[in-house]
Amino acid sequence: FFSNKSAKIFVAGHRGLVGSAIVRKLQSLGFTNLLLRTHADLDLTRQSDVESFFADEKPHYVVLAAAKVGGIHANNTYPADFIAINLQIQTNVIDSSYRHGVNKILFLGSSCIYPKFAPQPIPENALLSGPLEPTNEWYAVAKIAGIKMCQAYRIQHGFDAISAMPTNLYGPNDNFHPENSHVLPALMRRFHKAKVEGAKEVVVWGTGSPLREFLHVDDLADAVVFLLGNYSGLEHVNVGSGKEVTIKELAELVKEVVGFEGELVWDTSKPDGTPRKLMDSSKLASLGWKAKISLKDGLIDTYKWYLENVKQ
Ligand code: GDP
Repeated sequence: FFSNKSAKIFVAGHRGLVGSAIVRKLQSLGFTNLLLRTHADLDLTRQSDVESFFADEKPHYVVLAAAKVGGIHANNTYPADFIAINLQIQTNVIDSSYRHGVNKILFLGSSCIYPKFAPQPIPENALLSGPLEPTNEWYAVAKIAGIKMCQAYRIQHGFDAISAMPTNLYGPNDNFHPENSHVLPALMRRFHKAKVEGAKEVVVWGTGSPLREFLHVDDLADAVVFLLGNYSGLEHVNVGSGKEVTIKELAELVKEVVGFEGELVWDTSKPDGTPRKLMDSSKLASLGWKAKISLKDGLIDTYKWYLENVKQ
């Protein structure tokens, strides 16, 4: 993979948090032939459009980072969209990749594929060992089908299809919506607003005690490229930082990075969610990869991006 810098690589979803980081990584490594399509240029839910695209372009590699994503509220409100759009996108892209001679495809999922009560840290083989978290089961079922489709195409056709399951991601191009986003961008935005407005207090949800693992999306992009070059196994691979923080520690760190000087107020009427969510990334470590960006450095980088892009 690394030897041919002019290989044609289709990054599906190149404007999102994950896809945009993968594009930056590939460009920084000198890959010159990236194939990118906006939603308006190519609707990945349209099977015949995807077929013609692959027939015309014949990419050598595919990274599938296009998906319908969202938080708990969006998942609850649009369950049909979450299951149907994701199944359509991934079925079309994986199948067309196989039919049109793609050398290798990497499919991206998320840690929500695992059972609600999976052991912590969560190993890859916890997949399908128990019931899912009901609030995002539509998305999770689609992603599990994607993993299984990659496995089935490898078994039946010898197609080099692999899957990577990242932990909670953050970084440039994240969703900073005040209610619908995840905790890290939500807090960054709220602390920033409080600093600008000279507010004395910032409200943070829950008790602050839940533990979460965070990975900067540039580390994920590094892992994706590493896997394209070094992994062709049947099983999906977890991608985490291995570092946990409490929500309280996270809030203090975001406060410091943003430079807000007031107080934190805990709104315990808001749910804490699951007490702990940590991936077991020892398989990826044994292949020779580990995360490099500390949470502090990653927050500094993300806040810089936020300040440059806040007006848009
Ligand atoms: P989760 O990892 O799936 O539970 O998703 P979230 O990122 O939405 O929430 C993680 C934790 O952060 C939960 O314990 C939330 O209660 C807590 N939290 C604190 N403040 C906020 C906030 O402003 N937004 C969100 N989304 N979560 C917050």
